[in-house]
Amino acid sequence: MKSLESLDFDNDRALIRVDFNVPMSEGKVADDFRIQAALPSIKHCIDHGASVVLMSHLGRPGGVPSEDLSLMPVGETLCDHLEMSIKFSHDCVSDDAIDVSHELQAGEVHLLENLRFHTGETKNDHDFASRLAQHGTCFINDAFGTSHRAHASNVGVTDFLKNCTPGFLMSEEFKFLHSAVIRPKRPFTIVLGGTKIGTKLPLVTRFIREADNVFIGGGMAFTFLKMAGHKIGKSIYDDSLLQTAKQIVEMSKSLNCEFHLPSDIVVTEDISSGQDSAVRKVSEIDNNEIGVDIGPETIDQFCETINGSNTVIWNGPMGIFETKAYSGGTKAVAEALAQMTGRGGLSIIGGGDSASAVRELNLWSEMTHISTGGGASLELLAGRELPAMKALGMV
Ligand code: ADP
Ligand code: MG
Repeated sequence: MKSLESLDFDNDRALIRVDFNVPMSEGKVADDFRIQAALPSIKHCIDHGASVVLMSHLGRPGGVPSEDLSLMPVGETLCDHLEMSIKFSHDCVSDDAIDVSHELQAGEVHLLENLRFHTGETKNDHDFASRLAQHGTCFINDAFGTSHRAHASNVGVTDFLKNCTPGFLMSEEFKFLHSAVIRPKRPFTIVLGGTKIGTKLPLVTRFIREADNVFIGGGMAFTFLKMAGHKIGKSIYDDSLLQTAKQIVEMSKSLNCEFHLPSDIVVTEDISSGQDSAVRKVSEIDNNEIGVDIGPETIDQFCETINGSNTVIWNGPMGIFETKAYSGGTKAVAEALAQMTGRGGLSIIGGGDSASAVRELNLWSEMTHISTGGGASLELLAGRELPAMKALGMV
């Protein structure tokens, strides 16, 4: 596989698939984290004499152009970051747009309008991909967030361009979510939480095989607690997954994996009150109570193991962290991770909500790696081959 550093740009037009799928508010970019994350690859190409054509999707326009989902405001934010003006085309595959790309001078940047204004993008349409490929002479994919889908801009285009490489962001995600997990420095611990138990189960099944410790907190824990025979009151759980939860716990017993559920829970009778009413042992939750966070005894147990680990993967908050009274578990886990990283351990964080929790706690720079991709990071962590990475020869 070629790397971005090894590409020798000689009058080349670097066609870069970036992930500019940013949150928007009133026609402006509300959070430019993803734009900033793409800058190293873009600047590398500019600094090494290439011109750059950027393509991305924004939202789900479903193949129909819509003003609300235009990438124009993203272009404005990008100009500020690059401290230069850029060219913008209103249709990513029009003759005019391709002409603009062909006339670019070294160092110039051309941003294409939302790829998903055409149905050909998500269908990985051959002709659409061939039109996109005409923008560049080489292809760089830095949009990790869409890697688990085979689309025209991340898989189709690679049929038409000879030099295809991952960008820096993509390589970084691969290094931590794939390579680091194959030969982890032990003890190796995974902490799972949040609510999306259905999508996270493949992770649990993989990690009870690979990890030394698996901790389940957050909303996910209640399906396991109910399966274990506890009353969980009105806490969130998934009835359809009780059997799977049972199999997981049984499987973990036959493997060398310590599988931990919370031993105590912060509960409330009314989430909207923003108040907690008690800390309960998991065997003592009342019928009208809702579990909203892990309790202090569980925090101690989780954090002690995190502190004694050398690799920790964390995905999903330990409670309804958006409410201050229910954020103690998430805060404690994030702080333990930061400490562990500080003494040389590896901390890898996936999941949009876990990432925002880390950011709110001002612990972002204390972690080894925080993934930018939701579904893609879960699938990579679960050991799947992602189509866009395959198309680049990374797997
Ligand atoms: P991530 O985005 O990090 O992968 P998820 O999307 O799976 O995480 O879950 C995040 C959500 O889970 C948060 O909005 C949080 O409020 C919620 N959550 C965590 N614990 C609980 C709980 N005990 N009950 C209900 N929701 C919870
Ligand atoms: Mg989420």
